[in-house]
Amino acid sequence: MSDVLERFLRYVRIDTTSREERSDRVPSTEEQVELARLLGEELRALGARDVLVDDHAYVTAHLPASPGAEARPGLGLIAHLDTTEDAPGHGVDPRVITYEGGDLETGAARITPQQLPALNDLVGHELVVSAGDTLLGADDKAGIAEIMALVARLAAHPELPHPPIAVCFAPDEEIGHGAGLLDLEQFGCAYAYTVDGGPIGELEWECFNAAAVTMRFQGHTTHPGDAKNVMVNAVHLFEEYQAMLPAAERPEHTEGYEGFIHTASVSGTCEHVTARYIVRDHDAKKFARKLEVMRAATSMICLKHGAHAAEIEVEEQYRNMADAVRPFPELVDHARAAYRDCGYEPRVLPVRGGTDGAQLSLRGLPCPNLSTGGFCCHSVNEFVPVSSLEGMVDVLQALVARFA
Ligand SMILES: [Zn+2]
Repeated sequence: MSDVLERFLRYVRIDTTSREERSDRVPSTEEQVELARLLGEELRALGARDVLVDDHAYVTAHLPASPGAEARPGLGLIAHLDTTEDAPGHGVDPRVITYEGGDLETGAARITPQQLPALNDLVGHELVVSAGDTLLGADDKAGIAEIMALVARLAAHPELPHPPIAVCFAPDEEIGHGAGLLDLEQFGCAYAYTVDGGPIGELEWECFNAAAVTMRFQGHTTHPGDAKNVMVNAVHLFEEYQAMLPAAERPEHTEGYEGFIHTASVSGTCEHVTARYIVRDHDAKKFARKLEVMRAATSMICLKHGAHAAEIEVEEQYRNMADAVRPFPELVDHARAAYRDCGYEPRVLPVRGGTDGAQLSLRGLPCPNLSTGGFCCHSVNEFVPVSSLEGMVDVLQALVARFA
């Protein structure tokens, strides 16, 4: 069994589900500490320097450059410890199967080649799957196992060229924590990659600009029998507002570089309605325009129904990392070349979401995202081909060689 596969099968058995409801502390769940401590011990045993497992379950470590590459800028490799709460993450029981074609069935979980055409290219491959009643955790323990296997390989083969490398395994990515407590000075890197993407070959360096918008509509309640000229129903204020938002910019009508305004939840009564939205766009100008439309619609409601009829609150969440990555074209060029070095065709995709890399880029650490090899993350259908786990270690080796 290859080193990366052995590591992956061990790491996924540790339940590291993060919990949104406990996001006031880091890590949100104690179980993440267990994996952090294990990785810290393994990094020390591999001879990594300055291995630190802090109170927030951040694991960081450094590897000195290979001879001759000492003057190169530091390169970071980052993955996240936690798994999503979207699917059960307790009692993961990974198994390696040979996919024979047709429906991929594990326990109660089933996915068809119609649903996932990529299955057609995987006939005869060994896949790691869960027992079908939990997620697998390839997101992002595949990333962790691949980085750890690279560290082990570099430790065993000092002749392999690489710049100074720093690794970080951070908690709570799935609940939007965004590696916010990573000490960038101590990390000591000019740039980094997150290893947190999908099928092997993916490279992501553009993501959404993102904001959360909360709308509050204030009505006025009376007995419906005595309502004439007195009652203002907040539900209808919401309806009126909603009708002013561009219907074509809903998520169900958008793809690729098209942004959206998504109505995430609505709750309320005649007296008061609260509506929550998320707003997303890769293009900063179009993003600003979407927020402007929402503000203008708010003003219109207030103009018609009174100054307190509607109130808007905008919270910026993250920004497109492209602006931070663009000054370092080698980040994209070397990643493409490393995939090709290993026989994989790079596929550059605009992320329709955010990553830890987006928030780190915003803080001044340009940070594109590499694939892990995983499929169907956040579900009981999640799986990863063994060849992709092993292939990604080769890709990372080729990548660090190019930075040396
Ligand atoms: Zn992830």
